Amino acid sequence: MASVFSRIIAREIPAEIYYEDDLVIAFKDINPSAPVHILICPKREIPTVNDATPEDEAALGRMWTVAAKLAAQFGIAESGYRLITNVNADGGQEVFHIHMHLVGGRPLGPMLKRVKDT
Ligand code: AMP
Repeated sequence: MASVFSRIIAREIPAEIYYEDDLVIAFKDINPSAPVHILICPKREIPTVNDATPEDEAALGRMWTVAAKLAAQFGIAESGYRLITNVNADGGQEVFHIHMHLVGGRPLGPMLKRVKDT
């Protein structure tokens, strides 16, 4: 079955789409963690980073330049932001279609607890 993001790409379910080209799409996260929370994903349904192939490098590289473009567009390029890709269970991945979270618009704090603090 197609991923929820493939269904957004196919316009089968609605999303607030901010950017789209031949390789990638970017849209608002439905359950945002910060004032700016955008998901950027390749149009090809690659389940996880583990499944990425050399043929995907153009799309995966494009995700970074689109992230920079959107960060500027949303006014958070200078204040800063975080780019996150979760993989499988320990990474907390919920949607099995590679995506990059672009999160910002507030101080995000430390990325993860240090091992010594857990
Ligand atoms: P991850 O845990 O990295 O797989 O993140 C999946 C993200 O997809 C979560 O932040 C969800 O809020 C988001 N999400 C799930 N369904 C939708 C949807 N229909 N439209 C936009 N974002 C979604």
